[in-house]
Amino acid sequence: TSRGFSWRMNTQQDHSHSYDYDLIVVGAGSGGVRAARIAGTHGAKVAVIEKAALGGTCVNVGCIPKKLFVYSSHFSHDFEDSKAYGWDVEVKNFQWKRLVENKDKEIHRLNGVYEKLLTNAGVNIIRGHAYLCDAHTVQVNERRYTCQYLLIAAGSWPTIPDIPGKEHAITSNECFYLEKLPEKIIIVGGGYIAVEFAGIFHSLGVSVTQLYRGPLFLRGFDEDVREFLAHQMKLDGIDLRFQVNITRIDKQSDGTLVCTLTDGNVVRGDKVMFATGRHPRLEDLGIENTGVHLGNKNEILVDEYSKTNIDNIYAIGDITNRIQLTPVAIAEGHCFADTIFGNNPRRPSHENVPTAVFSNPCIGTVGLTEEEAREKYDDLIDIYKTSFRPLKHTLTLREEKTFYKLIVHRETRKVIGAHLVSPEAAELAQLLGVCMKAGATKEHFDATIGVHPTSAEELVTMR
Ligand code: NDP
Repeated sequence: TSRGFSWRMNTQQDHSHSYDYDLIVVGAGSGGVRAARIAGTHGAKVAVIEKAALGGTCVNVGCIPKKLFVYSSHFSHDFEDSKAYGWDVEVKNFQWKRLVENKDKEIHRLNGVYEKLLTNAGVNIIRGHAYLCDAHTVQVNERRYTCQYLLIAAGSWPTIPDIPGKEHAITSNECFYLEKLPEKIIIVGGGYIAVEFAGIFHSLGVSVTQLYRGPLFLRGFDEDVREFLAHQMKLDGIDLRFQVNITRIDKQSDGTLVCTLTDGNVVRGDKVMFATGRHPRLEDLGIENTGVHLGNKNEILVDEYSKTNIDNIYAIGDITNRIQLTPVAIAEGHCFADTIFGNNPRRPSHENVPTAVFSNPCIGTVGLTEEEAREKYDDLIDIYKTSFRPLKHTLTLREEKTFYKLIVHRETRKVIGAHLVSPEAAELAQLLGVCMKAGATKEHFDATIGVHPTSAEELVTMR
């Protein structure tokens, strides 16, 4: 039976029951695993319920396999660029199957790592679909388990627009397991996933048409970045179209998918991929039996400690639709476990979260966009930006440019936004995030000696 943990600041301890577990976590994705593991090391009796492979979206059909595909796709430019540097490389066939098999091996290894992490922390792994019966009871495969605390970390799932022929389309889930590389793919959407897969498929030799319904994709990112990337992707040869959507998909007898578009055009391909957002994964979860409140996007509503309106029920990660990013879910899960089982109440910070879009070239970003900063500080900001051909391409003559932008508060001189488009943007975003957490001012950047010759030195020489 459970040991009756309670967070001191939250004195709703229930002494009248004994439970099978102190904590049941629904979902062994990034957030759920971290929460379960930390709670376990704090001494709690924990079970985590998972119906699919351990590691959730990130490990199995998200960040990790995506990044492996991105690495694979970069070789095509590298092979071309190598000529100018004296290499004669003969590129034969690209073996999609080999890539997928090697990726699967690595994912399988990671599944094992996750299993070890959990079992080493004393966490019980229960395999199956979790159905919530009430605030303290979860049913899996006809068996009921009770818990003092319940953490819902069931993640999100791709949303497919309801159009005729939608059953012919795929999502990122299936892209990781395609039998063969398509010759032509139509990608619908203008968010992270659409942009990343457009880059991956294009560089692997697939003809890509990307459709976005609005005037400029990557809504929510800095406008300069959005324009810069759109320009680079078009230069690279991607058929990128804005202000257009798909209204129906018809499958011909030879398998070709014919897409009718809102602008009256028709595009054909052998695959159509929807990357049109992800919704909280509530299907058959029994959330209605718990009394937990949902928001208007069906997300689980939580406070800063990830607590729902029901005292013993918490939720983290994509299902709360705060920021759909693995490291954010991990931070939320860790804070939850420390708060409830570690006697160390803490809240995750959702401010200045660095993030990257692994497009080609890549986006790295932290803090406010120019549009947000103007609004928040009444135009009291200074903008520093630069665009240049990186040294590497002075020999290759590739048209790929780098874009850096810093947004500075005019009075405090603090850097409040950093937006980059360049091959090293993701790596730089991580350290820019540290600078901004530390409250670095533009003068700190200016006082720092550059590392020469790098692209990053431009960050400390912008005037
Ligand atoms: P996003 O929410 O980022 O983007 C969804 C896109 O689909 C938007 O461009 C949206 O347009 C468009 N869209 C939505 N509904 C429709 C529709 N009915 N018809 C046409 N277009 C539509 O979702 P993603 O699926 O790209 O990714 C989900 C989340 O996963 C991301 O938000 C991100 O947080 C995370 N992620 C992070 C990655 C990383 O860290 N590198 C990589 C991949 C995913 P509009 O803008 O007009 O609403």
